[in-house]
Amino acid sequence: MDVTAQLLRLFQVDKQYRGLQTRLNAAEKFLAEQTKQLADITAKATLCEAQIKQLTAVVANHEGETKRLDARMETIRGQMNSAQTNKEYKAFLTEVNTIKAERDRFETQALESMSKVDEIKKQLETLIAQKSDRERVRGVAAQERDTRAAEIKDRLTELKTQRDALTKGIAPETLTVFERLVTTKGDEAMAAVEVTDRKRHEYNCGSCMMHLPVETVSGLLSGGRLTRCVSCSSILYLTEEDAKSFQPAAAKR
Ligand SMILES: [Zn+2]
Repeated sequence: MDVTAQLLRLFQVDKQYRGLQTRLNAAEKFLAEQTKQLADITAKATLCEAQIKQLTAVVANHEGETKRLDARMETIRGQMNSAQTNKEYKAFLTEVNTIKAERDRFETQALESMSKVDEIKKQLETLIAQKSDRERVRGVAAQERDTRAAEIKDRLTELKTQRDALTKGIAPETLTVFERLVTTKGDEAMAAVEVTDRKRHEYNCGSCMMHLPVETVSGLLSGGRLTRCVSCSSILYLTEEDAKSFQPAAAKR
């Protein structure tokens, strides 16, 4: 087998390998997205829980203060009833009014905090529902990833073995050229020669469509030597069909 034929087989094995890997990568990416979303929702829910706890403590504190001030006012009102002078009475009255204003402030703040707690509890409910939905989707995604991985595991091992066997017959420097091209061009690393007109010797690169000189094609036909498109650097090859179609003509001569 000539070097072009060897590279073509390697290219086809690699392509299959990449194809399988791409499907697995897609499943893995989807799973990672679900995991991230789940973590975001969980973090938000945790924050809501902390806020509820903190605000509930604020409410309890304000309610305690309100009760304390109520008791204080009760005491002063009792003292007012037994006030000896008008001046004394007025002093008690001023104190009661001051305490009442303070008490009302605590009460208002307690109510505000309570309504905030209700609001956050609603947010938390929504988050809990979202979380359970996301957990379900994440579960499906994890299963899908595992199934995909299991499905392709044997085939990947098989392709890897084939690849190792194929690379053994190829010169290291040729392999380096090939691998570098695969990294930069992927499925375009190799391109079939397109025969546009046999009689006029018109050939194109199947990747960039640039015209190929006839020597390029004859080089491929005679020894299958490593041939690259001058325009796009793809490694060129002749399809089996085209290669065969050249043979009888050569034999006739
Ligand atoms: Zn080209």
